Amino acid sequence: MAVVHDLHAHSTYSDGTLTPTLLVRRAQAQGVGVLALTDHDGLDGLPEAEAAARECGIRLIPGVEVSVSWAGRTLHVLGLGVDPADAGLREGLARLRAFRGWRAEEIARRLEAHGIPDAYAGAKGYAHGAIIGRTHFARHLLALGKARNFGHVFKRYLTQGKPGHVPGQWASLEEALGWIHGAGGQAVLAHPARYKLTRTKLNILLEEFRAAGGEGLEVISGSHAPRDSVLMATFARRHGLLASVGSDFHDPDGGYAELGRLPELPAGCRPIWHTWH
Ligand code: AMP
Ligand code: MN
Ligand code: MN
Ligand code: MN
Repeated sequence: MAVVHDLHAHSTYSDGTLTPTLLVRRAQAQGVGVLALTDHDGLDGLPEAEAAARECGIRLIPGVEVSVSWAGRTLHVLGLGVDPADAGLREGLARLRAFRGWRAEEIARRLEAHGIPDAYAGAKGYAHGAIIGRTHFARHLLALGKARNFGHVFKRYLTQGKPGHVPGQWASLEEALGWIHGAGGQAVLAHPARYKLTRTKLNILLEEFRAAGGEGLEVISGSHAPRDSVLMATFARRHGLLASVGSDFHDPDGGYAELGRLPELPAGCRPIWHTWH
């Protein structure tokens, strides 16, 4: 049987709810043979994940999910197979985390102005010592009963034009790819269907991504509908991009996809791991 690859997952080092050890063990129990830990803008969970993976006999790909600002929106680019010790990558990510630290305070100030006090402390309670991100605010607001589910919290408070939204000041596409490649990794555009781009705009993005040396497109994502994957497979082929597969797992019971439970890549895709052996 083919080895199950899941190349996109989060731990308590960003906005996941499992420690790297528990994440790796769960992946193994779900039949995953190759797992990438890809926390948002940080590498600190990787040593623990590597140790756990060695212990339970699965392969761990050191990864990161880099936040990028492009044409007025936020995109996510995965770095797969990066060297966590690389100075350029570490410095770049440190800058993004500094922005995250300020943004968390700013989100709390804006929520306070909107009549929701103490959101910083509330969100911090969900962050396990990691930098506070929007997911932590969402968990807090949901616990306060501010919306009926996670998706609604985002829609009501944390997305563009809403009371707790703060525009991103992330890496440029060129910077993100430069850091990833400098650290020996491959760059994959994450969950491309989530950005709701027109086909024209997606073609422009993928041309730029390719020109900057981007290697892969996350054709299969836990946050894609089945028809998104078919469509993204055609974009991958058109732009000569390798296909990646990732659950974007965050939480065993938070409405996110399960580790490793992903459809097969559509025919005609070249999996990114074909370049790894
Ligand atoms: P941040 O990088 O802190 O701005 O937060 C982005 C994270 O928020 C994503 O990685 C998801 O985990 C989560 N997220 C964003 N939008 C939604 C949504 N509509 N529903 C659930 N989670 C979301
Ligand atoms: Mn997340
Ligand atoms: Mn993402
Ligand atoms: Mn993710």
